[in-house]
Amino acid sequence: MNRLRIAIQKSGRLSEKSLELLREAGISLTNGSRKLLSVAQEFPVEVIYLRDDDIPQYVEDGVTDIGIVGENEFVERNCRVDLVERLGFARCRLSLAIPRSDSYQGLEDLENKRIATSYPLILNNFLHERGIKAEVHVINGSVEIAPSIGLADAIFDIVSSGSTLISNGLKEVETVMRSEAVIIANRNLGEEQQGLLQDLRFRIRSVLAASNNKYILLNAPNDRLEEIVRVIPGMKSPTVMPLAEAGWSSVHSVLSEKEFWAVIDRLRELGAQGILVIPIEKMIV
Ligand code: ATP
Ligand code: MG
Repeated sequence: MNRLRIAIQKSGRLSEKSLELLREAGISLTNGSRKLLSVAQEFPVEVIYLRDDDIPQYVEDGVTDIGIVGENEFVERNCRVDLVERLGFARCRLSLAIPRSDSYQGLEDLENKRIATSYPLILNNFLHERGIKAEVHVINGSVEIAPSIGLADAIFDIVSSGSTLISNGLKEVETVMRSEAVIIANRNLGEEQQGLLQDLRFRIRSVLAASNNKYILLNAPNDRLEEIVRVIPGMKSPTVMPLAEAGWSSVHSVLSEKEFWAVIDRLRELGAQGILVIPIEKMIV
């Protein structure tokens, strides 16, 4: 039988989360990343482990059908592949940074400066759009030390918390792009592969929706029921059931992570009691 071949990062920041996502989507791999390739038991999928830099090209060439990479790598490699799903992990940004003691009024200050980066394409596109000319130096790895050893005046690199910049005496001056892990796909998948990809995307969306939502149960005094129901719309609308005690109802619903605390505060103000919040295993979307 035909299998969908998925490339994931062999070892790095994306590896663990990629495997976890596949596992939650019902695709468990027995041997981890020690081999080059492993085959899933329950779903016609095989996983190939690669350096993240190589994944977009392998997907374009059809060596692998789809891949999980950082959006930054997808944009930088400029390969003819489709971005089919955003996965919400490995969030980071690509930013310009300069030595902390240097003054900065705006991008013009980078005119004719040397900028070290591992992402020359993204940087050159950005500078070109803004009409800034600078010398872009490509370095692979440890970009953040380039200014202190006199190799560059500025850097363009991945930032998440900013602590690496601080410990290297740098400050972030411009955010150029935001990135998260994404699924990219070959543009000429066969019919069977396309079907498998649709199935996989459906499963992944259910996993992601579940992790972004919580199940909530609470007891509401009947005289405030209408207001309480208005605060928690739920998937369709909340389930309301009478409690054994007269004058009270049990309300069940689904709340998204984003609005979570605001809604909980409002519910307490409205007299809701016995509020329980439960993680959702899967949410079929
Ligand atoms: P490889 O050996 O596979 O080439 P790498 O060293 O190029 O690995 P990693 O550092 O493992 O790459 O990062 C992989 C991806 O994870 C990056 O392309 C980016 O999308 C994301 N990423 C990198 N650093 C961070 C961070 N600090 N926080 C969140 N996401 C990050
Ligand atoms: Mg890499």
